[in-house]
Amino acid sequence: MKVGVLAVQGDFDAHRKRLEELGAEVVLVRKPEQLDEIAGLVLPGGESGAILRILGERGVEKLKQFVRRKPAFGTCAGAILLAKEITNPEQPGLGALDIRIRRNAYGRQIDSSIREGRLGSAPLEMVFIRAPKIERVGPGLEVLATEGKDPVAVRQGKTMAATFHPELSDDTRMHQEFLKLIGNGHN
Ligand code: GLN
Repeated sequence: MKVGVLAVQGDFDAHRKRLEELGAEVVLVRKPEQLDEIAGLVLPGGESGAILRILGERGVEKLKQFVRRKPAFGTCAGAILLAKEITNPEQPGLGALDIRIRRNAYGRQIDSSIREGRLGSAPLEMVFIRAPKIERVGPGLEVLATEGKDPVAVRQGKTMAATFHPELSDDTRMHQEFLKLIGNGHN
């Protein structure tokens, strides 16, 4: 099964490594045409505004079509890209997840931190870097993980997102969850 990692900006290589460790064949997606060869796509962390700019109108449109049909997993900036509503500042999203997400929601003081949250009821290490916050979760979305009271990973059908960076912790459960989603016939 070929899994794509959007590789225009940000920490795509850590995702590549993790997915390969789990046995997936990874395609680093730099051109819109490459979306045609993959069964699912990871949208990495980085700077969501910059990723949008680099993709351009044609790239964003192609990506929108892709996430409508196939599984996608966005982490941090990737989660922002997948959202329907983005604030601080407002910016367009791919609309695959019915959430409102606030960029850089923790302010400068806690720019980055490692915290223990919960995946379901099990503890999970979470690395947050200039993280966004999910402020609204639409009906029909499943909250996969929480940190304190905040939802930090959600799923809507074949689309997953996390506001933290699972690719930077040793724990492989989030990526396994995504590969399962692809394997469940969503490709
Ligand atoms: N602050 C970034 C943004 O708004 C996200 C940070 C990250 O991906 N680590 O796009």
